[in-house]
Amino acid sequence: MKKNIFLLLTSTLFILMLMYFYERREIILNKEILLNENTYIEYPYFNKKEIDNYITTYLNSYTKKQNDYLFIDYDYINESNRLNLIFYIYEENGILVKETSKNININLEEDKAKINTSISKKKKEYDYIQNKMIDINKPMIALTFDDGPNHNTSKVLNILEKYNIKATFFILGTNIKGNEKTIKRMDNLNMEIGNHMFSHKLLTKLKNEEIKNEIKKVDDSIFNIINHYPTLVRPSYGTYNKRIKSLIDRPIIIWNIDTLDWKYHSSKNIYKRVMKDVSDGDIILMHDIYSATANSLELIIPKLLKDGYQFTTVSELLYYKNIKIEKGGVYSRAR
Ligand code: ZN
Repeated sequence: MKKNIFLLLTSTLFILMLMYFYERREIILNKEILLNENTYIEYPYFNKKEIDNYITTYLNSYTKKQNDYLFIDYDYINESNRLNLIFYIYEENGILVKETSKNININLEEDKAKINTSISKKKKEYDYIQNKMIDINKPMIALTFDDGPNHNTSKVLNILEKYNIKATFFILGTNIKGNEKTIKRMDNLNMEIGNHMFSHKLLTKLKNEEIKNEIKKVDDSIFNIINHYPTLVRPSYGTYNKRIKSLIDRPIIIWNIDTLDWKYHSSKNIYKRVMKDVSDGDIILMHDIYSATANSLELIIPKLLKDGYQFTTVSELLYYKNIKIEKGGVYSRAR
């Protein structure tokens, strides 16, 4: 995975370098800075104290961050005594990449980093698994599916795959056995997998140990199938209180639009309920176990795509909307 992104970024930079190739000449030296235990990055060095200090300070502010993955490169355009230096910083967060570029204008004559800087932050969020660019200025929502999987889930996955969109599935423990292949397929399609407890009991009636056990049994079964644990928890019936919150070691995800698909098995009804209230940052509750729900997706997805909506997983939605998540915190939408 890291190799893929490295190739992607280096090829992008290579193209940029080609574009400016004829306008440049080598006037700067390279120095190295320690990025982490075994990676160094090269950075330009002018042998001019003020400029060099400025650049070192700037780069150090990044190398001190604890990123899973950080890739920094630079590009420059030299025009007589002015130099335009651009740093490209790519930070990885899960499967997303944030690109930040900083433009530094340097007057070489005055020995100053007279520094008209411009920083474009979070300009691009690149989902390199689905090869999709997420535009944080456009609306986004998260579809969530509870109580599955069952035989109908494949139909839902077929539609999501067809439109190349992601969703979040809150898996019910009693439905895991016999549906391992479906869960594996979800994971392969980069759907987010959450924990919907083992047996759909009303949690307020359970003892602490029973609640923990409801979660743990699902965690362990899912781990055995996809080799990682569910990232989020949705309690049965969306029920929570102070005690339940203290027992759940992950973010608790509720919803703000209930399609009531379990009640009205009509794809048109589900479609209307979504379209009536939908807005940026919504978390929509559906159930992948019903045929009408799958059919409604063929109405909902094309319409929302046409209206400019982007479909993300719940974790991505919270991330893009800069919502700080914590264990035991309850989230029903992202705004
Ligand atoms: Zn449920």
